[in-house]
Amino acid sequence: MARDYYEILGVSKDASEAEIKKAYRKLAHTYHPDKKGGDEAKFKEVNEAYQTLSDPQKRQQYNQFGSNYQQATGGAGGFSGFGGAQGFSFDDIFGQTGFSFGGGGFEDVFSDVFGAGGSRGGSRRQTRGRDIELAVDISLEEAYTGISKSIDLDLNTTCEACDGTGAEGKKTKQCPTCRGNGYVEQQVRTMLGTFNQRVTCSTCQGKGTIPESNCKSCQGTGVKRQKKSIKIEIPKGIANGQTLEMRGEGEAAPYGGAKGNIYIHISVKPNKKFERRGDDIYLTQDIVYTTAVLGGDVDVETLAGELNLKIPRHTQSGEVFRLREKGMPHLQSRGYGDMYVTIRITTPRHISRRAQQLLKDLQSEGM
Ligand SMILES: [Zn+2]
Ligand SMILES: [Zn+2]
Repeated sequence: MARDYYEILGVSKDASEAEIKKAYRKLAHTYHPDKKGGDEAKFKEVNEAYQTLSDPQKRQQYNQFGSNYQQATGGAGGFSGFGGAQGFSFDDIFGQTGFSFGGGGFEDVFSDVFGAGGSRGGSRRQTRGRDIELAVDISLEEAYTGISKSIDLDLNTTCEACDGTGAEGKKTKQCPTCRGNGYVEQQVRTMLGTFNQRVTCSTCQGKGTIPESNCKSCQGTGVKRQKKSIKIEIPKGIANGQTLEMRGEGEAAPYGGAKGNIYIHISVKPNKKFERRGDDIYLTQDIVYTTAVLGGDVDVETLAGELNLKIPRHTQSGEVFRLREKGMPHLQSRGYGDMYVTIRITTPRHISRRAQQLLKDLQSEGM
């Protein structure tokens, strides 16, 4: 049995490319056959391991397939060795003998060989309804509270008259093409040879039955184009650029296939007052010089309403106060982000004579 490539190089499974390279260099140096005390067998082993692990694609395949990969490829260390593989037949794979590779990695390989979604074991694949993509703009305030919106769509929905079956009065009969099997055998030629493949019956779309007569309302397709109002629940805390998924709420597929999904791309419009960074909110708060010097109270706007902030004596311009839990609600968990208030000291544009005199006195005091 082939040894583990990571073990051969003496690195961990999550080793970086640099670590692998470093380990390889060291070992190749040690085992080089030209060197005194070199070991050709070990040198080859190290090279084989390095060739797989240094190539990101090969490494991923190796990680995914593990020892199964080793058996199937005869240890050749690459997918190119696959064509010569012996020991299992395609009937095993496409028949229903329960031959299992485990891990599921092989399915990927087979789709590569046979083209996307090669029908396995007569699986009854049907077309899925179309996905619908929507773009929704909301304000920061709406993102703070969460909001539900109704959107009118014109889309393919399941025909109510026939319940999506396409059959008038839902009456069906056995499909004559596949005799109710839902699939037909077809000879497929590939670079690996000719074999029988089961493909979904196109007459009945894999259902094994066809309508006795077509539904008059949908002409037998099972779907009808209709206006539908969709209610979208936008959760509080959602951020700009996030996408909501409504599974099975998209278009209906003809002949009773699975429904598509709705994807809602959210954009949160920028706010004039509040700046959002993650779940924290930033705000600049103007205060007058005297409040900064003597201390005082100031009303600060937050997404949850106005809040009183105590300004301590000797507050400097640019000083930042944190208001805990006054930011955005967390989307995936409880609680809120924080709010950061940056103080900006403002200079009055108009002052009274008395104020002017007082300030002149202050000025003479060097303040
Ligand atoms: Zn119908
Ligand atoms: Zn059929």
